[in-house]
Amino acid sequence: AGSAVPARAAAPARPYDHKYSHKYDDKVEKLLARMTVEEKLGQLQQLSWAFATGPGNPDNRKVEEEARAGRLGSALNVFGAKDSNTLQRIAVEESRLGIPLVFGLDIIHGCWTTFPIPLAQAAAFDPAVAERDGAVSAKEARSNGVHWTFSPMMDVTHEPRWGRIAESCGEDPYLTARFAAAKVRGYQGEDPEGPDGLAAKDRVAACAKHFVGYGGAEGGRDYNTVDVSESRLRNLYLPPFQAALKAGVATVMAAFNTVSGVPAHGNSHILTEILKEQWTFDGVVVSDWNGVQELVAHGFAADPADAAQLSLNAGLDLEMVSTTLADHGRQLLKEGRIPEERLDDAVTRVLRLKFALGLFDQPYVRESEAVDAPSKDARAAARATAARTMVLLKNDENTLPLDRSAGSIAVVGPFADSSDLLGTWSFPGAVEKFRSVKVLDAVREAAPDAKVTYARGVDPEGQDIAGIDEAVAAVRSAEVAVVVVGEPPAMSGEAAARSDIGLPGAQERLIAAVAGTGKPFVVVLVGGRPLTVGGWLKRAPAVLMAWHPGLEAGNAVADVLFGAVNPGGKLPVSFPRAVGQIPVHYNHESSGRPYAPDNKYTSKYLDLPHGPQFPFGHGLSYTTFALGQPALSTDRITADALRAGDTVEVAVTVKNTGRRKGDEVVQVYVHDLAASIAQPVRRLRGFQRVTLDPGKSRTVRFRLGAEDLGFWTNDPAGELRVEPGAVDVYAGSSSTAKARATLTIG
Ligand code: BGC
Repeated sequence: AGSAVPARAAAPARPYDHKYSHKYDDKVEKLLARMTVEEKLGQLQQLSWAFATGPGNPDNRKVEEEARAGRLGSALNVFGAKDSNTLQRIAVEESRLGIPLVFGLDIIHGCWTTFPIPLAQAAAFDPAVAERDGAVSAKEARSNGVHWTFSPMMDVTHEPRWGRIAESCGEDPYLTARFAAAKVRGYQGEDPEGPDGLAAKDRVAACAKHFVGYGGAEGGRDYNTVDVSESRLRNLYLPPFQAALKAGVATVMAAFNTVSGVPAHGNSHILTEILKEQWTFDGVVVSDWNGVQELVAHGFAADPADAAQLSLNAGLDLEMVSTTLADHGRQLLKEGRIPEERLDDAVTRVLRLKFALGLFDQPYVRESEAVDAPSKDARAAARATAARTMVLLKNDENTLPLDRSAGSIAVVGPFADSSDLLGTWSFPGAVEKFRSVKVLDAVREAAPDAKVTYARGVDPEGQDIAGIDEAVAAVRSAEVAVVVVGEPPAMSGEAAARSDIGLPGAQERLIAAVAGTGKPFVVVLVGGRPLTVGGWLKRAPAVLMAWHPGLEAGNAVADVLFGAVNPGGKLPVSFPRAVGQIPVHYNHESSGRPYAPDNKYTSKYLDLPHGPQFPFGHGLSYTTFALGQPALSTDRITADALRAGDTVEVAVTVKNTGRRKGDEVVQVYVHDLAASIAQPVRRLRGFQRVTLDPGKSRTVRFRLGAEDLGFWTNDPAGELRVEPGAVDVYAGSSSTAKARATLTIG
């Protein structure tokens, strides 16, 4: 029945080559021939500048001296046209060869204009938001002398205790891959080699990080051990990096963790065999902060010289902050412990990047063009994006949206009057100057005729409950209450793992007291990770997950609360019921005894209902939708046809059955029923966010090809496998979708 969609063009032999690597070959070669060993080693060194302190700072003197001596290739944390020009001038005008420096900085979810944290962006299920964030950030950063951002982070994780989940796109490799590629395009342009690419004055080079497996940290404790099979590495952690490479990402950062016993910074299987050989990546591999030196603490390198040798030979190109290669490279070369070709290759990669960025032609930025504040358009983008990322977890009896003409509204909770909702890894300059709009202020503005009362109730983390009475009084005297609770930005991000991911402090007591008034109320949750919502969930009529929404936090929350924006975000991570259940994620494998409620001997806990509190892909709307069965263009296709590029089309019809215009995210999942590596019970393979007027419907189409239906085994050669057999194709509005069709690969 039906037919397969015909083949796409055959894949090129070196799929991840940058064109620019060859464009500048001649120039790079000529320059390399003139360089001394010391100058070569210098190109492989990146040092940190003391942010925003200027050239006069004594800590920066060493950076300047190294630049002058030609012993520096790059610096991080240099920001501002003046600072960057000053340091650049030293390298270009005072060093022997005048090679420009490349300046890197962590612009993770915004420069001056802070967008929602990456985890929130993923909840939009709309990669266009990441592309827009990337483009706005690139412009603001590049005009201030930043050429390169250490973003996007694409560590898939099943660990909500891990603080860096906030920087990630959550638990799914496909969703992460789509966002990673979009963010790279936003930073680097559609065509990184073209005039609107890396050399443009409003683009920056991107960095795919952290390579690889960092999200697998045992116990969710940052930097911890990761022991991972080859197949899990390939199927779970690597796909976003492949997508970033396809989008042309210029650089990759090594991860702090070990990968099955071998630290990533010294791991030739991942850095050389996979990244540079199998994937033909010809960009720069940068270390993480001090990551080369840390090979010693890992118990992998005997001393710093050993660390330099192991990392360079494993395929690392540029050393961030530690100076093992600069200190020992000459001796290592002399002793034959590092081959000269490897040194030259690393230098070539760094020089290519500098040529591609146009730094040899234009090493400086114009001070008059430096952006020093969020523009009106950028603010509007931050607001629209933030509203798009919010997830309506629960909404009994249409408690939301709130009525703008309500006579009185109580706004309570430790984050109601907070301007600290930018989120982790915000640009330090923005944290000082452009803090987030407060929910309280935005509610006042959105409902100008209402009497809005405020009480903090409790602190974010403290146990003091003395303020709860005042909050209760405020709620009693109002028609409706908004309770803003959650986790402050400092509780997620790097080195911010938590063993308990519930509401900190006495916040649950506040919710219980508000519930005790009998008034209708809405809980707005802020946070950088999924939170265990606990017993209070039953008592809260409506819950909105707002994440850390960035600069326009309050306005975006108010847009959703009052219905100016109908929420359409979906969870990019499962929300566990309890910490003891972690890992709980939708894309798990089946045990031989899959969960069954009426059978004792199946995979479950005695003391918890099965499954997460809220599943991956979940999110409600102020309207309702009906989704049809997935219709396949054919129910049979051969593995050969798939390998040759044929695809199967999946069509799903979605109808807005409610009374408001709204968004639904149509999601397609597959499950390969029998394969040579046991497959996850579901894998997301397509999604599309659509906006529909009431009563309207649309048919959304997806294509499933070899990459969607295939998988990787433990074979270290990394060939994608497409095997014959039955594949269930599910479509719906969350990972628990029931509507199914079956495809046979013959
Ligand atoms: C983080 C990286 C970051 C680097 C530079 C490290 O601690 O792990 O993600 O890019 O610092 O700031």
